[in-house]
Amino acid sequence: MDEINELIQILTDSAVKWGASREFTKYIPAEKVVVDGWPRWKCMFGCEVYGNTLCCPPFVPSIEETKKFIKDYTHALLIGFKGEVSGPLMQNHKKMQKTMVKLEKKAFQLNYPKAFAFSTGSCLLCKKCIKQELDDDIDPLVARTFCRHRNKARPSMEAVGIDVFSTVKKVGLNLETITEKNLDELKYFGLLLIS
Ligand code: SF4
Repeated sequence: MDEINELIQILTDSAVKWGASREFTKYIPAEKVVVDGWPRWKCMFGCEVYGNTLCCPPFVPSIEETKKFIKDYTHALLIGFKGEVSGPLMQNHKKMQKTMVKLEKKAFQLNYPKAFAFSTGSCLLCKKCIKQELDDDIDPLVARTFCRHRNKARPSMEAVGIDVFSTVKKVGLNLETITEKNLDELKYFGLLLIS
């Protein structure tokens, strides 16, 4: 556990240096990450970008595949970013996406080759996802091969069925739904799986 504690410390420091909030960055055993059906249903019915980026359903693994994938991991780091509503929201979201991939790379270089990062929300790495230029009836697995940044694009947690609200609560943090009344509470969470 000493070794993993040291790794978590290194990754937390790097995450904070790259824009995350130390207060909202917490270790969680991988088995406590909650996977459920409802986040995917909310993607399909209620999200205007459903099917519009290659990091969203139906271009990402199924809920069952996610459950199986997470079972192969022991540790995870939930990485929280403050929304900074006074700044450009999309810029903050994009920064979070890039930081998560940098953290995955850092863990890999520290000899944790299975490290895998999840982002949140839709992929913003391109101004307009290439999905919108592909045929509607293209096979989802084939479509993914057209992603312009396959080395950096990662699925969002909710897209693969991770219940972010319940998972965040498991580490003692409170995540509320956001309205115009509590915009200051806006946060983004990424997840890094480590084994
Ligand atoms: S990197 Fe670009 S092409 Fe790939 S999923 Fe993200 S927006 Fe789409």
